[in-house]
Amino acid sequence: MKSHAKAVVIGGGVVGCSVLYHLTKFGWTDVVLLERSQLTSGSTWHAAGGMHTINGDPNVAKLQQYTIQLYKEIEELSGQDIGLHMTGGIMLAATEARFDWLKGILAKGRYLGLEAELVTPAEAAELMPLIDPSQFVGALYDPVEGHLDPSGTTHAYAKAARKNGAEIHIETRVEDLVQKPDGTWRVITDKGEIVAEHVVNAGGLWAREVGRMVGLELPLLAMEHMYLLTDDMPEVAAHNAATAKEMLHAVDFDGELYLRQERKGMLMGTYEKACVPWSEIDTPWDFGHELLAPDLDRIAPSLEVGFRHFPAFQNAGIKQIINGPFTFAPDGNPLVGPVAGLPGYWCACAVMAGFSQGGGVGLALANWMIEGDPGFDVFAMDVARYGNWATLAYTNAKVRENYSRRFSIRYPNEELPAARPLKTTPIYDLMLSKGAQMGASWGLEQPLWFAPEGVSDSFSWRRSTDFEHVGAEARAVREAAGLMEISGFAKYTVEGFGARDWLDTMLAGRIPAEGRMTLAPMLKEDGKLIGDFTLANLSAERYFIAGSGIAEEYHMRWFEADLPDDGSVTVVPHGVGITGLSVAGPKSREILQGLTRTDLSADAFKFMDIAEAEIGMAPVILSRISYTGDLGYEIWCAPEYLRYLFQAILEAGEPHGLKLFGLRALNALRLEKGYGSWAREYRPVYGPLEAGLDRFVALKKEADFIGKAAALGEKEDGGALRLRTFVVEAKDADVIGDEPIWFNGEVNGWVTSGGYAHASNVSVAMGYVPKEIANEETGWEIELLGARLAAQLQKRPLFDPDGARMRG
Ligand SMILES: Cc1cc2nc3c(=O)[nH]c(=O)nc-3n(C[C@H](O)[C@H](O)[C@H](O)COP(=O)(O)OP(=O)(O)OC[C@H]3O[C@@H](n4cnc5c(N)ncnc54)[C@H](O)[C@@H]3O)c2cc1C
Repeated sequence: MKSHAKAVVIGGGVVGCSVLYHLTKFGWTDVVLLERSQLTSGSTWHAAGGMHTINGDPNVAKLQQYTIQLYKEIEELSGQDIGLHMTGGIMLAATEARFDWLKGILAKGRYLGLEAELVTPAEAAELMPLIDPSQFVGALYDPVEGHLDPSGTTHAYAKAARKNGAEIHIETRVEDLVQKPDGTWRVITDKGEIVAEHVVNAGGLWAREVGRMVGLELPLLAMEHMYLLTDDMPEVAAHNAATAKEMLHAVDFDGELYLRQERKGMLMGTYEKACVPWSEIDTPWDFGHELLAPDLDRIAPSLEVGFRHFPAFQNAGIKQIINGPFTFAPDGNPLVGPVAGLPGYWCACAVMAGFSQGGGVGLALANWMIEGDPGFDVFAMDVARYGNWATLAYTNAKVRENYSRRFSIRYPNEELPAARPLKTTPIYDLMLSKGAQMGASWGLEQPLWFAPEGVSDSFSWRRSTDFEHVGAEARAVREAAGLMEISGFAKYTVEGFGARDWLDTMLAGRIPAEGRMTLAPMLKEDGKLIGDFTLANLSAERYFIAGSGIAEEYHMRWFEADLPDDGSVTVVPHGVGITGLSVAGPKSREILQGLTRTDLSADAFKFMDIAEAEIGMAPVILSRISYTGDLGYEIWCAPEYLRYLFQAILEAGEPHGLKLFGLRALNALRLEKGYGSWAREYRPVYGPLEAGLDRFVALKKEADFIGKAAALGEKEDGGALRLRTFVVEAKDADVIGDEPIWFNGEVNGWVTSGGYAHASNVSVAMGYVPKEIANEETGWEIELLGARLAAQLQKRPLFDPDGARMRG
């Protein structure tokens, strides 16, 4: 074993071997993989080996597409047979609601270039004759699905990496990781030590342990998972003989089953509701090539549905039941990327579908390590989407929920109940008493809308029980005033004598004057958006930033990576250590003026002003800004004042018609103003010009801010896309995001978000289209639930296009 390496990959499952291969493919050949036992000795060896492109998140789907396309390459390069069977697959819907979901999947697939198509139950049964068509209402056929040999595939990655120069050491367990003062890592194994610039945690079932070596509690948990293999089935033999083809893969969502041919019989697996975690706290180091005891009772309810939906199984003998563990993050997506505060430590963990996702994870991580950027939009699998609130117990509850719902529909208005409430603010109970319907984001309970007694969300793809009440909230803001809690924003204080200069290079906007705020995009080197902040100048050496709540850890990772080490700047994330309220609407000034001595008149406290103030008895930071796009204020305070402030403002607002509003009304309001939001319109694959934020990028400022050269380039060549707002002729459902945008009969863009803009009485979609057609007035349609709806391009915001209300 060598003593030094550029990178050490810990773990020889399919994911570690893919990372190793990609590192060598992109030029890092001084790389070593260490495997505790034999390659595949974690969850990889007993996988069912199924793979598909389709995923609810289009960005993850793209990486799955890449993974499948890669298999030919590694097979050829390594000379290792991976046992690839591209059978195609069929996704079955037994209910109309599920069929609606499949239509959405098909629609997303259009702009990803997927070739899937909807088929009738009879057509599905023709393609896959084990199906009883009377049990289904429709299906989606996807030709790019199949299965492979898990062990052959892992060895193919490994052999290809070795050919490119990598070293692999089996029977070598990493026992500890120690970072040296120069930032390199001592990788301490039972066979000696290697010093490496980079270490990759691809520890699979032991990823938590490899995290704990550096003080990291990664939010992942292994679950037991069962599939059964049948004896040879005559129906399978007949189909093979008649068509010279294998049985298609099938996913039966309502039975929570997946199936495929295995030799001359079938393999049937299930994500059972009565699921069971494995090794909840620690993973035993001596676990290896053994299986867990099967438990037929646990999967019996799913099997019963399976026997009904696929009657031939009633006569099939069970040859073997496989029960093995594999790991999940709370939302089921992988945990990939660097970790704030641990330079050189990389994660490639919680990959629950290694044979669909392993290639994409390897590609993204290798790009990230070598180029400093994953090269794709990987926010959905970024390890930074969780913070230290995602504890072991939180993860346990959420992973169980996710596993048991693996094949369940999640409606756009559905909030999942596990691990809640976790984080609450001091007005949580007050808001509940006012009918707040809560959602959890970044672990924090936040009101979505306020329901009258006896009303709650009924889950649907279509407009639901909340529609009229959210409408009333939105209209109250436009007509009088609304009060909303905004503690869920991320807030940071940037302090120190170097703060101004540092911010000037980190952020693309101008640094505002003291007592002023500005919208400040943050770009990465390639000029793409990695943040959309509100930056406030509180005093010469003290700045306040508000940003997206779900991106706190993500942004801290960017901030920390670039902080000077001379102590001249500190950045403190506040979480809910600072809480906030927003008062918005034409009466908001009058309401607040009654509670403060600060002069709020239009000339004294202008749009984008910020100041320390007192509201009633409470000391606050008061700013004049509102994401509703209306006249409005954001009030930041220590949590101990929040309850008092909430009640004082509610009381003062009552005679003025002030109403509580939640995130759904806020969405309706920002849509009619054309405001984008982080993780929807603003993501690390769009440039500021494309996203319509170019006016906030100070290309002429002196500071050489990160991404300046690329932003100048974007200005010159115009980028590729434009963010646009459309009014959609929707009837009983509104877009939510990821629907295709059609132009003159062809798919030419995608929706990033949408909803009903209640105060304007129209259905709205925002999305990206190619810049060449971005100003075309006619020819637009947006596909929703299987129908193409006429859409009208909006050149100006629907509400207050000149900003008179906002600035007045
Ligand atoms: C029953 C079952 C069916 C499945 N079916 C499918 C399927 O059809 N399709 C699909 O895509 N996925 C399927 N999976 C999931 C799939 O197995 C996983 O996604 C995949 O194996 C994850 O690979 P990994 O490399 O991340 O982890 P692992 O396979 O767990 O590999 C981690 C490796 O790291 C090594 N290691 C850990 N710690 C150390 C250390 N300190 N030092 C040295 N080495 C270390 C381990 O020995 C192990 O070999 C299934 C899983 C199960 C259990």
